[in-house]
Amino acid sequence: MPRTRSVPPGARGNLKTPTGLARGPRRSMNDPGPEFVVDDALRGIAERAWELGLCPECFGRVVGRAGHGLANPDRARRLAAALGRQDAFAAGASCRLCAGAFDRWETWVRRAREAAEGVEWHRFTCGSRWDPELLAREEAIWAEVRTPFGESARTAFNRELGKRIAAATGAEGTTGEADVVFLADLPAGRVGVTIQPLYLEGRYRKLDRTLPQTRWPCRRCRGRGCERCQGTGKTYSESVEELIAAPFLAATHGEGTRFHGMGREDIDARMLGRGRPFVLEILRPRSRGIDVDRLRDEVNATARDRVELPELRSAGSEAVVRVKSASPLKSYRVVVRGEGSEGKINEALVFVLRGAIAQRTPTRVAHRRADRVRTRRIVEARLVAAESGRFTLELRAEAGTYIKEWVEGDGGRTDPNLAQLLGVPLSVESLDVLEIHDP
Ligand SMILES: [Zn+2]
Ligand SMILES: [Zn+2]
Repeated sequence: MPRTRSVPPGARGNLKTPTGLARGPRRSMNDPGPEFVVDDALRGIAERAWELGLCPECFGRVVGRAGHGLANPDRARRLAAALGRQDAFAAGASCRLCAGAFDRWETWVRRAREAAEGVEWHRFTCGSRWDPELLAREEAIWAEVRTPFGESARTAFNRELGKRIAAATGAEGTTGEADVVFLADLPAGRVGVTIQPLYLEGRYRKLDRTLPQTRWPCRRCRGRGCERCQGTGKTYSESVEELIAAPFLAATHGEGTRFHGMGREDIDARMLGRGRPFVLEILRPRSRGIDVDRLRDEVNATARDRVELPELRSAGSEAVVRVKSASPLKSYRVVVRGEGSEGKINEALVFVLRGAIAQRTPTRVAHRRADRVRTRRIVEARLVAAESGRFTLELRAEAGTYIKEWVEGDGGRTDPNLAQLLGVPLSVESLDVLEIHDP
């Protein structure tokens, strides 16, 4: 199978967002508009277009958006009859405009199928790339023959190619989420395909205090593999992402994953309660018909006592936006080492709940986050256990609050902080996220 370079729609100047199959002014389901009728206006346009040496497809497209109900070549023949012209139209290959692009459907469809060979797809979109000069020439013709009804070659081509691919394969052309996006490159005579990702949405619980959420490239070699990371390219041998992704990658023959968590917990923090919402994006999957429940069970079995998936289901790409844009309150349990009487701790918590906390970017994340001061609130706080040299708090805080820094102070970068309020050094012994309060 020739591997075609995939070009994201809209990535080049001459690209148009792939259009669906049922678009266009005269093809609206709700309001198809009037039937195509040759009136004086169209007759005048046709007279002026006659000498241009167009093929029936291109001739018909000059009035492609007038009325509805006829394919472009049929419009051309209707106009010719109305003018009483018997002259033959230009053959596609000698057409001044398209040079036969509309005559080679079998070839285009075959190229599309070849591009997607070995890939499972049921819904598709198609777009096309055209010589910009040709598109400019087409607009010049519309001006020359004074037509307000011109339909662009690209729009018509995308629609017709979509119809033919659907007819040949039984797949569904869509304006919504597609499995593959075909891009016919007319100047190059090729069809490229972009395999769209597969999305799974769910929640994970993390019980292991040594596991990062996502794959963490080795800082020295940046993922290439070196002595320090023993050739793995990773700082940690495993991650929540990898443990969840493994069976899904195997089942879909995908080329990689992206993990979108609704925030992330520290590596040494557990994620309890109902778990943290996330979306797993599987890149370039070859198979889509997967048994999500069975693979979820597989994750729960192989990652036992480390990661659990209480929920998992198929999703669309909009799930990524939903998960990444949420900023829910979060509940924590934090075990603190340090001296403090119950009275003083409670007094400090009452003080903290009254105001906001200013947190300068913690030293430990300064290498990957901009250094600035964020204001956050702790909205609930209570002391749940206290013994000599150790106490436990439960907190509910705004998304993005650095709990460890709030307890320890981070050299004064968090203000106020608990150590400062109690007047003793404190350190976090353990931290658990108890719940993500997403809507
Ligand atoms: Zn033509
Ligand atoms: Zn390395």
